Order: sequence, then C-alpha cells, then structure tokens
Amino acid sequence: MLNGEQITIALSKGRILDDTLPLLEFAGITPAEDISKSRKLIFETNHDHVRLVVLRASDVPTYVRFGAADMGVAGKDVLLENGSEGLYEPLDLDIARCRLMTAAKVGAPRSAGGRVRVATKFVSLAKQFYASRGIQADIIKLYGGMELAPLLNLADEIVDIVDTGNTLKANGLEARELICHVSSRLIANSAAMKMKQAAMQALIARLGEAVQNRQQTA
Ligand code: AMP
Repeated sequence: MLNGEQITIALSKGRILDDTLPLLEFAGITPAEDISKSRKLIFETNHDHVRLVVLRASDVPTYVRFGAADMGVAGKDVLLENGSEGLYEPLDLDIARCRLMTAAKVGAPRSAGGRVRVATKFVSLAKQFYASRGIQADIIKLYGGMELAPLLNLADEIVDIVDTGNTLKANGLEARELICHVSSRLIANSAAMKMKQAAMQALIARLGEAVQNRQQTA
C-alpha cells in the first residue's frame, strides 16, 4: 500500500496520541513497541517504510512544515495559533475534541469599558478574539496551569482548552465565551505531498476510512 516511500509521521503526545493510535491501527500501522512505556522519540512500525515520531503538540506543525516529518497529527488550536502556512490539512480526524474558551472566576464581572488582563498560551488567538469583540486586552503569556492566574490575580480571565469543564470547576472558574471548536487534524508537508504522492494519498485514504469507521461505531 505504501509504495516503498519512507514516510515519517509526527504525533502529538498526551491525549491526542491516545486517540491517534487506534486510527493508525485501523489504517494498518502499529508501532513496533509500546509507545506509552518507552522514552524513545522515534518508533519503527510494522511497515519498513513508516516511522512515527512523538513530539510536544506545539512542535508537530514545525516538523511537518520543514519536511522533517511528512505528515503529522495536531490540534486545530495549535494550527490556528501557530499558522498553517506550507501545510496541507487533508483530514479532520475528529478526535480529541474540545473547545477553546475564555474563563474567569465564578461570578466575577468583566470590568465595563476597562482593560482586561488575560493569561493564556494562545497569545495570537486571544489577541484576535478580544480585538474582534472590541475589548482592550493585555495578554500575559503562560506555558501551562492557566487556571491559577485568576486565583492569584495575575489575570482577570484566561483563554484555555475546555473539555469536560472539570478543571475550571475544580479551581472555582467558569467558562464564558466560546472562541472555537477544536479537533485534531492530519497535516501534511506540501512538498512531500507531491514527491511521495501515491504513498501519502494511500495513507490519507486509509485514515479517512478509519475516521468514518470510528464515527459509525461510536
Ligand atoms: P477538562 O477538565 O476536561 O475541561 O480538561 C481541560 C484540561 O485538559 C485543559 O487544561 C486542557 O489543557 C486539557 N485538554 C483537554 N482536552 C484537550 C485536548 N483535546 N487537547 C489538548 N488539551 C486538552
């Protein structure tokens, strides 16, 4: 099926990885060893010509954009935040679904007309969102644990990923506005799509079937 072309697929570690592996398995690709039990970053698979690399989610588009990986799996949040220039996005994998939202302390009013301090790792998306609402926002870049920022008055609001809402709730916060829906996407390097067209298209088609199968059996 894969035509002998070497294909490197970059996977986002964490919960996206947990949802990606069954799709790859349906598409006929299984890692040669248990990724969750290994500290390795590169994994051979049951196909001689396919290997997997496991990366921090925000680094996946970079590896694919520069062609260090031919394909990758990345959250739409990461793609929107970092830009998807030079990348094809052939497939919505419909996994790791969540929402990018603003949140604040339960019941806290937004200061009318004043500036809002917003803590987030999604600096670009947050800027765009508040600007689109005509709200003056001072964005404070954080790398994690955004929920803490309103509790210690570092920020009035946060922009973060919400799935069940349990993390917000556990920290006395509530979701406010929806910025966008998020799911993980298959991305591909534009040049690789041309150079390794047959193998890449075959893989995309198999993954498309895997997504449909998952949706039908869910
Ligand atoms: P929850 O408590 O279920 O709302 O989960 C929220 C936390 O889990 C957030 O802090 C997110 O960083 C993380 N999270 C949940 N779903 C995803 C996802 N699909 N992609 C990345 N992070 C996620």
